[in-house]
Amino acid sequence: MSLIIGSHVSFTNKTQLFGSVSEAISYGANTFMFYTGSTQSTQRSEIDDTLTYEAFRLMVNNNINSDNVIVHAPYIINLANREHEDKFMFYVSFLAEELLRVRTLGFNKMVLHPGSAVNCSREDGLKNIIDGLNLAFEKSCDTVILLETMAGKGNELGININEIKTIIEGIHDKTRIGVCLDTCHLNDSGVDINEFDKYLDEFDKEIGIDKIKCVHVNDSMNPINSHKDRHQNIGYGTIGFDALNKVVHNERLNGIPFILETPWVNRNKDDEYPPYKYEIEAFRKEKFVDFIQ
Ligand code: FE
Ligand code: FE
Ligand code: ZN
Repeated sequence: MSLIIGSHVSFTNKTQLFGSVSEAISYGANTFMFYTGSTQSTQRSEIDDTLTYEAFRLMVNNNINSDNVIVHAPYIINLANREHEDKFMFYVSFLAEELLRVRTLGFNKMVLHPGSAVNCSREDGLKNIIDGLNLAFEKSCDTVILLETMAGKGNELGININEIKTIIEGIHDKTRIGVCLDTCHLNDSGVDINEFDKYLDEFDKEIGIDKIKCVHVNDSMNPINSHKDRHQNIGYGTIGFDALNKVVHNERLNGIPFILETPWVNRNKDDEYPPYKYEIEAFRKEKFVDFIQ
C-alpha cells in the first residue's frame, strides 16, 4: 500500500474545509489534519455545506480518502480536571459537539490530548478522563477518539503505554477509542525511536497494535526523556531522518495516516514558509531533503 502522508493544515471561517483540502493538495499530500476552529476557544462558526461539498469533490479528484483525514480536538478541553462539575460538564458537552461536527464534515476520527492532572492525583485524573469520554460518547454519534501519546510536560496524562491502557480499559464502547502516536512526544517521554519496534512490541502486548489509527511524525528539539514537547523539522532534530523514516515505512503500521506537525520555517519574521512539501517528498523518496537554507 502506498504511503498515506500529510500535514496539519488551517481551517478558516471563510474557506473552511475547501481551504484545508486545497492547502493539503499544495503540499502533495494524500491526507491532512485540521482543527474545526480556534484551539484555545469554544467559539465555532457554522459549517457551510456548499464548501464541504466542494471540498469533497476536490478530495475525490486528488485521491484523498476521507477515512484517512484526522480532526484534532482543541487544547482547552481538559477532561482530567473535575474540580468544578459544571465546568467539567461544559467541556464534556463541547467535546460531544465537536464529535458531531467531525461527522457533519464527513470524517470519523478525532485526536484528543487526554488531559492534565490539575489539582488532583494522576489516578483521579485518569478516572475523570474515562468518565468524561464515556459521557461524551453517550451524547454524540459514532466518531472515534484517538488518544494522543503525550510528552509528559507538566502534569500531562497519557505519557506511557500504561496510562493509555488504563483509559482504554475504562471506555464502555471500545469501538469508539483508538490511539495516535506522536514521535516527538514519544521521544520526550523516554521512548527511543531508534528502537521503535520494541515499543510496538510492548504496545501490541498491552493494548493491541490495531488500536493505532494515526501517527504524528515530528522530529524533536530536545533529547530523549526531556518532557518538553517542542517539535522540530524532519531531520533537523534529535531523532533524525533515518529513525523517523523507519517509523513512516514500518510494515506494521501500513495503511494508517502519518501527519506532520513540524514548525514553519522562518528566515526572518516576514518570510515564513511551510516545510510540508519537502518533508512529504523526503519520506516518499526515503531520502533526507535539506530545505532550510
Ligand atoms: Fe496533538
Ligand atoms: Fe501531535
Ligand atoms: Zn506536541
